[in-house]
Amino acid sequence: MKLYEGQKITIFTKHKKENAMVELFKNSIGGDIEVYDKFDTDKLGTFSREISRKKSQIDTARKKIKIAIKKCKETDVIVSSEGSFTSHPDAPIPWNIELVMFYDVKKKMEVYGFYAGSETNQSHILTNNYEEALDFAKKIGFPSHQLIMRPDSEKSKHIVKDINTKSKLKETFDYCVLKSKTGKVFIETDMRAYANPTRMKNIEKATKNLIDNILNFCPRCQEPGFVVSEVIRGLPCSQCGFPSDFPLEYVYSCWKCKKTVTKKSEEAATVNPMYCHNCNP
Ligand SMILES: [Zn+2]
Ligand SMILES: [Zn+2]
Repeated sequence: MKLYEGQKITIFTKHKKENAMVELFKNSIGGDIEVYDKFDTDKLGTFSREISRKKSQIDTARKKIKIAIKKCKETDVIVSSEGSFTSHPDAPIPWNIELVMFYDVKKKMEVYGFYAGSETNQSHILTNNYEEALDFAKKIGFPSHQLIMRPDSEKSKHIVKDINTKSKLKETFDYCVLKSKTGKVFIETDMRAYANPTRMKNIEKATKNLIDNILNFCPRCQEPGFVVSEVIRGLPCSQCGFPSDFPLEYVYSCWKCKKTVTKKSEEAATVNPMYCHNCNP
């Protein structure tokens, strides 16, 4: 019997994120899966900046859970998710973090999974040349990946979304040129899940990580969701033994009985001296 067999799991999403989740849940934890898409999650922030996100990524995912508990009274579990697009902390490459949160209402158990990586098409251009717009569209994977346009700049209040055919692309480009003061059009990738298959894949990876975390059981009380709660840094340098910022140990803890288990990092026993504060300050 699967862990959530006979229980109702509600996925709280407006942008079809269930497409990345349903099969994975069915094959691992089971459950009767439903989608609640009647709440406008864009109120909590959009990637195209009309509404800025006020809370952190994790707090926004929690806020969605809170709202969902009020809206969906007959459910056992709520699943919410939240993405972010920034730059890698140490390098000028685009960075997508996807977080999928799972909340068991009866147990009051919160478990989440995430994906972090550079797999994203997030990009934009400002142009007055339709050929250039077409090249950009091709580069970002249009039309399966959709586009958003505005006249003049990213700040314009005129915004056109759901551009997913070549004729809409041309039509919207001409409309934006007409509306613009500079003759230029600001074109950007649409990062909403259903408009961006690359992002949908990353949400799928985050969901896999979530399921791994749920299906990790406490060695003492056998509850699911026995996950890493603390990372202890200090993996030694292979040359001088000085502690680095790399993970040395992971502390797993149980949300229910508070049991903890410390496991050594399995990635490597030492770090390259190039990451050592002593050998390479
Ligand atoms: Zn326990
Ligand atoms: Zn060293």
